[in-house]
Amino acid sequence: MGNIRVRFAPSPTGPLHIGGVRTALYNYLFAKKMGGTFILRIEDTDQGRYVPGAEDYIIEALQWCGLTPGEGLGVGGEYEPYRQSERKDIYQKYALELVESGGAYYAFDTSQALEERRAAEAAKGNHNFRYDNVSRREMKNGLTLPASEVTRRLEAGEEYVVRLKVPNDETVTINDLIRGPVSFQTNELDDKVLLKGDGMPTYHLANIVDDHLMRISHVIRGEEWLPSTGHHVLLYRAFGWEGTMPQFAHLPLILKPDGKGKLSKRDGAKFGMPVFPLGWEGETPEDSFRGFREYGFLPEAVINFLAFLGWNPGTEQEIFSLEELCQAFTIENIGKAGARFDYDKAKWYNQQYIQRSENEALAALVRPQLAPKGYAPDAGYLEKVCGLLKERMTFLTDFWAVGCYFFEEVKQFDDQNIAKRWTPESRPVFEALLAVIEKNKSFAAADIEVSVKDFIAEGGLKIGQIFPLLRIALTGSMQGPGVFEMMGVLGREKTVARLRKAIDYFDAL
Ligand code: GLU
Repeated sequence: MGNIRVRFAPSPTGPLHIGGVRTALYNYLFAKKMGGTFILRIEDTDQGRYVPGAEDYIIEALQWCGLTPGEGLGVGGEYEPYRQSERKDIYQKYALELVESGGAYYAFDTSQALEERRAAEAAKGNHNFRYDNVSRREMKNGLTLPASEVTRRLEAGEEYVVRLKVPNDETVTINDLIRGPVSFQTNELDDKVLLKGDGMPTYHLANIVDDHLMRISHVIRGEEWLPSTGHHVLLYRAFGWEGTMPQFAHLPLILKPDGKGKLSKRDGAKFGMPVFPLGWEGETPEDSFRGFREYGFLPEAVINFLAFLGWNPGTEQEIFSLEELCQAFTIENIGKAGARFDYDKAKWYNQQYIQRSENEALAALVRPQLAPKGYAPDAGYLEKVCGLLKERMTFLTDFWAVGCYFFEEVKQFDDQNIAKRWTPESRPVFEALLAVIEKNKSFAAADIEVSVKDFIAEGGLKIGQIFPLLRIALTGSMQGPGVFEMMGVLGREKTVARLRKAIDYFDAL
């Protein structure tokens, strides 16, 4: 196989949807697997749908996910520029060439004329008027007007569009790498506009010209583009580029968590989950939301989760680093059926990745939560705390809720559980125990555990009388990591102070 070159070609019409990130990921993985190039191209020719900030969002989202383009916008490369709005002249030139060669034609019908025609058809019961290989015979275009008239109109500066001349009675077939053969009947395709009245190309023209000029070998994109592919093949053919046409792979849809229909951007609010990689400040509250990042996901977990939305390695392995995905990925293992956006699975992945994180890395990620609260613990302490808490977090944002007692005094005790366990005889027992703990030599978790267990055995006590109360004394609740590990991390001074304070509180309750 020749040089593998794939592109991710988003339109900056708003924040990048998580489905777009999956498309980028599959392109990236395929490029890496095949030793090819992953290109970022911005398709911004539809000025009416341009949203400021969307391009930066795309770049930041790819960066956060670790999907770094090898070529394209922000990186550079042989085929610059990679922003389509800066390539307007190129598309114009190709559109006019296509008119010359007979693959396309000028059309002068005004939008008003088209509207009238549409209305007239509707009055006859035809609600699907199309500008196609039949209706074009009755319209004002380069195929129906005499050549001199066409020249006159062009010279007079009359507005025109360029349309693709779709041939009659043909079947166009592509061999989709995921779906197999897919056919299109040309009699059902309209004569798509290629160049608009304002001189800007449509998506179809710009996309095909760029894929050709940028030597794209494989087009991997969402299923919603499959219906356009018939036109795309006709365009390659009209240009005489069929021999180097890329191969197509249309990815399966991403479905709602309940499997009912396509995942939409509104589903985030509906199901209480993120459907965008990063947060976005829109014009209205409904258009603003938190992304996977703000929910407290690790990008590695999001990538691993997304990789499995439509692909599987054919083995039982579920945890894959980006590098491992690059090794394992094949287009053959992408499914045709829609993939359910299973948010519980996303959370499971995040938990797995937090648990597997190095304490040092995790400490760096949670530290920003501490500064606004006025805490700046030293690195060693924070790392130890992370080591104890990482099994108890689903999101990075859980850190404070599961571990605030490592930084501040206990604010609230679980009175119910204290009342159940504290008896009039408890005070002397706990005072003696406190003395034992205070005297512990190393103050290492394992050593404290031995002293406390010896104390329990010697006094003929039960673990259930002691452990839960020690835990409540340190954290306020029955939750938390191993009680001796907590003591080891808190250290002698804090542990003793907390126990002393708790004994008074418990006794007074
Ligand atoms: N600009 C299109 C999009 O926004 C690209 C489709 C394609 O990959 O051909 O998704």
